[in-house]
Amino acid sequence: MKRKELHVVVGAGIAGCLAAITRSRAGYEVVVLEEQRARSEGTYPVCTRTSNIVSENHSGAEYPFDPQSARDCLDGRIENEQFFPELIYGGKTYSRIIASQSMMDDGHDIVGQCRANMDVIRSHYAQRCEEDPVNAVFGEPSVICREVPAVEGVNDVAAGFLTPQRGMNPVLVSTVLDWELRQCGVDFREGSSVGSVSRRADGRYEVVYTAADGTSETLVADQVSLCGATYAFGMAKRLNPEIEFPRLFMALREILYVDLPDGTDKNFTCLKLEDSYGGMLSPLNEHVAMIYHPPAAHVMNIVMDPVSCDPPAEYARYLAEGHPEMRERAERTVNRLREFYPELRRSKILGTYLKVAINTVSDSRMRRNIGVFGVHPGATMTVLPKWTMCAVNAKKELALALEHSRTSGNVTPDEVREILAGATRTCWETVPDWARKPESLTAQAKKHAVNMSVPEELALRFRDVTYPPGAQHVTFGSA
Ligand SMILES: Cc1cc2nc3c(=O)[nH]c(=O)nc-3n(C[C@H](O)[C@H](O)[C@H](O)COP(=O)(O)OP(=O)(O)OC[C@H]3O[C@@H](n4cnc5c(N)ncnc54)[C@H](O)[C@@H]3O)c2cc1C
Repeated sequence: MKRKELHVVVGAGIAGCLAAITRSRAGYEVVVLEEQRARSEGTYPVCTRTSNIVSENHSGAEYPFDPQSARDCLDGRIENEQFFPELIYGGKTYSRIIASQSMMDDGHDIVGQCRANMDVIRSHYAQRCEEDPVNAVFGEPSVICREVPAVEGVNDVAAGFLTPQRGMNPVLVSTVLDWELRQCGVDFREGSSVGSVSRRADGRYEVVYTAADGTSETLVADQVSLCGATYAFGMAKRLNPEIEFPRLFMALREILYVDLPDGTDKNFTCLKLEDSYGGMLSPLNEHVAMIYHPPAAHVMNIVMDPVSCDPPAEYARYLAEGHPEMRERAERTVNRLREFYPELRRSKILGTYLKVAINTVSDSRMRRNIGVFGVHPGATMTVLPKWTMCAVNAKKELALALEHSRTSGNVTPDEVREILAGATRTCWETVPDWARKPESLTAQAKKHAVNMSVPEELALRFRDVTYPPGAQHVTFGSA
């Protein structure tokens, strides 16, 4: 690189962390500004907001109603398999997509819909493998989906499906990202709330933020990456009022962590489709599970203001203070899911979380990837409606950044290709020594659980997992 550019990333959720890691690996000097502060010493506050309740690395299997979502998710899953180490799964194997018998009885052919979707996934995967053999991360296309007649220990099952979709553990994701950000030499500034981003006459960007000590600071950056979730839309619009977003819905959702006093024999996620017939049981280990029941979880849904692009004040209030129906909805979730998952019989609620989901349609069964926006040359915006799309979009974002450096004369076209390939390589190519010892790995993950306001038990992995040093990928055959 002819001149080392300074890049500022706003927000350290999953989108911002990946933007910072890939840009830094590409050779840029990177500063991350994150408004949250770490509560645990020696850690960065990463994935403390929406990214703290994510449990599924989708493959499209959960979207039998929308083939495009299925294909997008499978693309995301392929890239994630190449970017993240095995550790993030914490001993979880594959997710079981479950079609409910009661839904069939009521005349909805959910089994047929899931079967058709398996064909979409198989053929899209075959096409991706044909395009590039590197994409064959789950083995042979013909075996990546499998139907099973029942799922032991779940009630009301018409059919179950094994697909590359896999549950993961958000606390272990943060543990990996924190290490990787340090390895890359990213300058992480916590407690730094960005107030404005503006473009200067020389084409660079002025980022004004309130620092951790309360002072107002300004950074002048060659490039900026806006990754502040719902707040990023407003920042992008103020930077470029001409920018057009699709019609966007902001859904207020509720999700819970519960304990498992009777343990569980499921080291996989159960995704029982759909709406009132279904709900998710995602055990993180034998002690704690995440649960979700759509009718209780879907609290509100509004269309984003196309002018201000900011989230409405009532959402900000509910996120800060809670929603009046929160408790009742949480209890409804546990009670309903007890009917499907017997291990929840004596479970207690450990935490209830309100979050904003972003979508281009009002129907949660169709969720689209909105991609990466080039706000101005040198300014991108990445907001992820799905965690699963994180590595795909990080690659796109970096390609835009490199293109800007190329037009500024800082990199050559040949360098661009080489840099892109190197910057998106797997995290933890060399597993850190402390992570090889289960006690120190768990201790570090617990610190992230505290930062992320999730139960500390999440730091534990399923007991039967061992990680051979350097292990990265599993094949579908080991599910
Ligand atoms: C209930 C629920 C369940 C979900 N489950 C899944 C799932 O299983 N699988 C899946 O693929 N997806 C899932 N999603 C979607 C997933 O959570 C999101 O796609 C993803 O976490 C968004 O990441 P992000 O980095 O864009 O945003 P965030 O994680 O919210 O990160 C934004 C960051 O920006 C910071 N920030 C904001 N404004 C500023 C500012 N002015 N200055 C500095 N910092 C700022 C915030 O503090 C935060 O750290 C789920 C969503 C919901 C609501």
